[in-house]
Amino acid sequence: MNDHNAFITAEPIEPTDDGPLSGQTVAVKDNISTAGVRTTCGSEMLSDYVPPYDATVVERLKEAGATIVGKTNMDEFGMGTTTETSAFGPTENPAAEGRVPGGSSGGSAAAVAAGDADLALGSDTGGSVRCPAAFCGVVGIKPTYGLVSRYGLVAYANSLEQIGPLAPTVEGAAELLDVIAGPDPNDATTHDPPENAEYAAAATGDVDGMTVGVPPELLEGADEAVRDSFDATIEQLRAAGATVETVSLPSVETAVQAYYVIAMSEASSNLARFDGVRYGISGGEGNWNESFASAREEGFGAEVKRRILLGTYALSAGYHDKYYKKAQDARAWVKQDFDEAFESVDVLASPTMPVPPFERGETLDDPLQMYLADANTVPVNLANLPAISVPATETDEGPVGVQFVGPAFGEEAIVRAGSVLA
Ligand code: GLN
Repeated sequence: MNDHNAFITAEPIEPTDDGPLSGQTVAVKDNISTAGVRTTCGSEMLSDYVPPYDATVVERLKEAGATIVGKTNMDEFGMGTTTETSAFGPTENPAAEGRVPGGSSGGSAAAVAAGDADLALGSDTGGSVRCPAAFCGVVGIKPTYGLVSRYGLVAYANSLEQIGPLAPTVEGAAELLDVIAGPDPNDATTHDPPENAEYAAAATGDVDGMTVGVPPELLEGADEAVRDSFDATIEQLRAAGATVETVSLPSVETAVQAYYVIAMSEASSNLARFDGVRYGISGGEGNWNESFASAREEGFGAEVKRRILLGTYALSAGYHDKYYKKAQDARAWVKQDFDEAFESVDVLASPTMPVPPFERGETLDDPLQMYLADANTVPVNLANLPAISVPATETDEGPVGVQFVGPAFGEEAIVRAGSVLA
């Protein structure tokens, strides 16, 4: 185990009961709290942090009979698309040598792809479950906002993120979703799933009669290999009896900009607690201002610092209306566009990522290139919708995934659509 540096801490956590996951192993992203087992968020800041309680999803895994095999590597605090911003070194992609596993839940996807765990949990703020699923050739689901409890998930941008499952098959991922979904008194944003919802049972492999919408805006920036892969998937859906229609989502061209303003703004506020007093490594004694500054200077990596600075700037008096408010307006527009699209289709389909897995190091000096790769995943988080990434084809540069997006709480529809492929 851990040939690919998929784990930060490989310490098993035993189940407390028998249940639907008895005999199965699950890898858990290292921003999800585990009582007594350190939870680092991929950061030097939390390298010694041991949570006193379990996240709700961890409690549910233990009660469902799962054995947790370890805590997985990730971009620091979930900020990245390659798992290279981790303070614990990069994770390798078991499905594409020399290339990144995607991020930020790269360790979770790599653990599943390498067979180090049967299943895994990641978190998806702007694509962090779906991107690594696509790059490692596994399945990943980003649930509707409010379907899965965030209690015990260390917040990056809390209005956007959800914990989600990864697995080799759509049915496996849906089975894990069945275990973790549902309301939690400790997270007031959670909801009941639709009555009688059974996600694993929806993986029928039957798309006959389904209507699939394809937004051309989500194909615009895609590489040729990715487009070819997507065209082949669409043919497969048609051959299986689905109707394919073009639908327009003009707002998505604003999504990456709006996402990064909102995500960085929320991050600047959520990460304020890491000051060496409330949480994090100590900044030493003396003047509190200097002590806080030195804890943050030492504890945070470059990408996290960049985002805290930009987020603080976007929220500052005088710039708030120019950036943050504008981004919220764009978010509302994106939501409205999706709502209109779902009046005529059951699910939307697009490539998950516009590119195959990056080579290691390729985006490290070019954050903008990294941010733009999120073009197809972030609109879904802005609109609080569910989406699944399913392996589509293998290219010379590694696996390529297809994404299906559903209406709010329409997890069964995306599971059904995805199950025709894996
Ligand atoms: N790549 C995106 C970001 O860096 C998504 C991260 C995530 O979903 N946690 O913010």
